[in-house]
Amino acid sequence: MLVDLVDTHTHVFFDDFNSDRDQVFSRASEAGVDRMINVGVDIESSRKAIELATRHEACFATVGCHPHEADHWTSGHGQELVRLAREKKVVAIGEIGLDFYKNFSNHENQKKSLQEMLKIAQGCHLPVVFHCRDAHEALIQILSDRALRPARAVLHCFTGTRDEARRYLDMGYHISFAGQITFRNAGPLREVAAMVPMDRLLLETDAPYLSPEPMRGKRNEPAHVRFTAIRQAELHGITLEECARMTSQNAKDLFGL
Ligand SMILES: [Zn+2]
Ligand SMILES: [Zn+2]
Repeated sequence: MLVDLVDTHTHVFFDDFNSDRDQVFSRASEAGVDRMINVGVDIESSRKAIELATRHEACFATVGCHPHEADHWTSGHGQELVRLAREKKVVAIGEIGLDFYKNFSNHENQKKSLQEMLKIAQGCHLPVVFHCRDAHEALIQILSDRALRPARAVLHCFTGTRDEARRYLDMGYHISFAGQITFRNAGPLREVAAMVPMDRLLLETDAPYLSPEPMRGKRNEPAHVRFTAIRQAELHGITLEECARMTSQNAKDLFGL
């Protein structure tokens, strides 16, 4: 049975999809993935995300600079993001945040560019897509400033603890899990996922990364969000159809799709 799924976080504009992007879209639609959000990671990819959204009805876009890019951040980037955020089908500022795991950028630069983009999100009245890896304490600290804290946000590809999840839920935020929840050794993460109420849960692939089982190790694509949906449905004791309906409604509420 075909269910309507939303892949709320994907990067189909990446070169990984250059040879078969159209097939990727057809496979997504055959798998019931009728909408997807292409998430920008820098200025150039934010433009590409918008371009895809213009050409494909199923696509929406976000604009933002990933914490990995923070060492290259300038106020010019901020001005360009403000311009891009006004484009049609741009539904959020992101992905922005902190990554103290890969440490591709200096921590202070990460915090500074994040704070500037949070101000942009406030000004545009758009929700925020957060990327946070091994940096929840620092992120929660930044969000304690009410002038910066967005009213609506999602923690994407969540890998934090129950306690950290609880704190974001208390702020009114959504939480999204990628393919990791299907991995054999992901028991503790599945416990966190099971704790997130269905009305705050989103589905995502983060393609081309993090392919869920049974596709683990291969390039990921939006059609595979179905495997993550099946696992979430099991964890919450509901059917795939119910899981699809509720998570798609959440995506609609958060991003206004
Ligand atoms: Zn991310
Ligand atoms: Zn991503």
